[in-house]
This record gives sequence, C-alpha cells and structure tokens, in this order.
Amino acid sequence: MLSEELREYMKGKPLDPESSDFREIFISISGSTPQILTESLYYYLSPYFGKQRIFEKILIITTRHGLQQLDRHLLDGEIFGRMEKDLSLPSGTIQIQHEDIKLISDQNGEVLEDIRNTEDNEEALTMICNVIKSFTDEPDTRLTVSVAGGRKTMTSHITAAMQLYGRDQDEVIHVLVPSEKENINAIGRDVWYYPSDPSDPLQKLDVAQVPILKMGRYYLTGDQLKLPPRKLISVLQRKLEDAADHAALLRINGKEFRLGPETITFSPMAAVMIRYFLRRRFTAECEPDCPGCELCCPTKIDILDNITDLLTEYRSFDSTGGNHDRIEDRINKISSDVNYDKGLNWLNSHLTSLRTELTNSLSSRYRNLGLELANFKVSSEGAYRKVQKQGEAHGILVDRQRIVFEN
Ligand SMILES: [Zn+2]
Repeated sequence: MLSEELREYMKGKPLDPESSDFREIFISISGSTPQILTESLYYYLSPYFGKQRIFEKILIITTRHGLQQLDRHLLDGEIFGRMEKDLSLPSGTIQIQHEDIKLISDQNGEVLEDIRNTEDNEEALTMICNVIKSFTDEPDTRLTVSVAGGRKTMTSHITAAMQLYGRDQDEVIHVLVPSEKENINAIGRDVWYYPSDPSDPLQKLDVAQVPILKMGRYYLTGDQLKLPPRKLISVLQRKLEDAADHAALLRINGKEFRLGPETITFSPMAAVMIRYFLRRRFTAECEPDCPGCELCCPTKIDILDNITDLLTEYRSFDSTGGNHDRIEDRINKISSDVNYDKGLNWLNSHLTSLRTELTNSLSSRYRNLGLELANFKVSSEGAYRKVQKQGEAHGILVDRQRIVFEN
C-alpha cells in the first residue's frame, strides 16, 4: 500500500495516464550493474519523461553475486534518498524491503552465486515464473518489468514468464543510456546512477518497450496456468498448433491435398473418391458442421449413379501408369450394365481400400480436420445413423468452409 504522504503527492501530478487504474509494480532482474535499477527508476519517477509512475512495490530478482553488488551500491538507501530529493519526491518513495529481493536458489534452497549450469537455470526459470505469476494473478496490478540487468538466461526467462502470465497492461522494458555512461558503470571505478539533468544530451535516458506476445492468460485456463513452466509452455504450444490447424484450409489440386505446411498425395482411385465425397460435402446445403445427412453423404446407390464421372476423373489421374484397356473396360461394364450387384462389389472393395489409405497415411493434422471415411446406416425413413463400419451411405465430414478446390 502507498503511504498517505505519497497519495497526497500524487494528487494533481501529471502521472502516466493509466496510473490511476492500477497498483504499479516494478520488477527488475539484477546482475553486476545495479545502476540499471536506478536508471530505470529515475525514468519512471521523474516527471520529465511524461511516464511518471509511483511504484507500490519494487522487486529485484538476483543471485548472491547480484545481491553483493546491490548491497555495495544501493541498499543503504543513500542513492535512493538522493534521487528522491533531486526529484522532490516524498522521502520513502523508493523502498526496497528485504522480502522484495528474490534470490535465485538451487533445488536444496541454497542461494546461487551465479547461474552456471542447467539445473540452476531450471530453478531460475521456476522461481522467475512464480514471481511473475503471483503478481499477475492480482487483477488490479500493472507490472513494469525491466530486463536490462542480470544474465542473459534471466532476461530470456523473465521474457518467457511475461509471455505466459502477462496481461494487456503489463510492460517489458529495457533502459538505454549513452554508451559512455555504460562504460563508466562497467569499469566500476566511478559510478553513474542517474542523470543530474535529464535534458542534457550526454545523460540522455530512454526506455525501449520490448515487444512480447502475451499468450498464456488468453489461451489457457486458470488451472493450466498452475502447471510447472516447461509443462505449461508445451501445453500452450500444442494449443497454438491446434488453433492454427483449425484455421487452415484444405487445398485440393488433382491428387494433391495441402493442409498448412503438409502436402499429401493419394493413390489415383483414393483421390477420385475423396474428391467426390468432399465435393458433395462442399456443395450440400446442410449446416457446415452437419454430422452427416442425405445431402452431404451419398448412399452407395448415389455413388454408382455417378460412377461415369468418377471413372472419367480416374482416367485423367491414372493416364501415366494405369492399364488403359482395363480401365476403359471397367468403365464400360460398370456404367452401361447398371449392374448394381457387380457395381456394389467393386465399390465396396474400393471403399475398403480408401478407408485403409486414409487411416494409414494421415498425420494428426489431417485427422483433426475430419478427413476420414464416415459410415452411415440409413433407416427406411431415410434417417442417418453413424456406424463404425459398412453401412449404406458414406461421406467425409470436413467443415465445408475449409474446403478449397484449386483444380
Ligand atoms: Zn449434411
């Protein structure tokens, strides 16, 4: 909670416009140059930049090495006191409580000197994610997260954590200072903490917004968000892939079917039959997600009535390898005889091959789309009932809005 004095101070100040909507939380990772903290805080506490935010809490995530640097430079409060005076802020505006310094420790709870190996790295990820999650669980907070300090692994972990748990209002930032000032701080002999005059070009401070995609909170449920970070990332990845598959179109060009990045080529007869079923589905006037009816799923008799068209297409697909005489013979026999018994035998054997080809050759991407042979029993009143095998009618129940015939 902010003190009475700070609340009084904030009245009538030109604070960052969104500041009144949120409790402001500042989180920084820190390594060997804790000056990054003073530079970033100066940027937000000074009215000069037009981004003034009064932070209710300032949190630092660091290792033992980082803590030593903080201790040496900042924790006695002298620099913070000076900054408050320079900016005419009430004393105590910048407060870092003991419990607000989050130290990264190993599996046994030992505080890490530095992040050096895979296990340390994993602990750091979990810890950083826990901190970010707990503060973003509170709907009235806004997080300003500085990624400028600390090791690169910490930077990438906190960025990942913000992608998992961040909300629209939260920001990831990186403070930028003139390279000369950066060099002074790197040498560590003379330390530059913040500008004495923010309008001086040689002391120019800037803050870059780091663009991130905030996904976790928008794609996952509250229970899923409680999963350990790595598990959570894989669940989220899966969800995004499913969503992409869901939006993808099935593009049909001859024997070739394309879905997202995958292309599949069926045998000529399977391609002819899939195309026939999909075209039927595509032109039917039932609902796009119809579970199967006489409009979108033809009976065997329907199929045999259209056999000339099917076989004509087959002839064009199989022009290179097929036995022309046999094909012509078959077309003539089946179409001219109207011998349904013979025709049915022929059709049943091809439906079986089609079913096998669809089951064996498809990735989960195609299966999610519904590219499989559906079978129906048809009652004497014409009602359709889905069955596992055989049946009198068949179809492929792909959403027609996702079917595109290119050729
Ligand atoms: Zn239908």
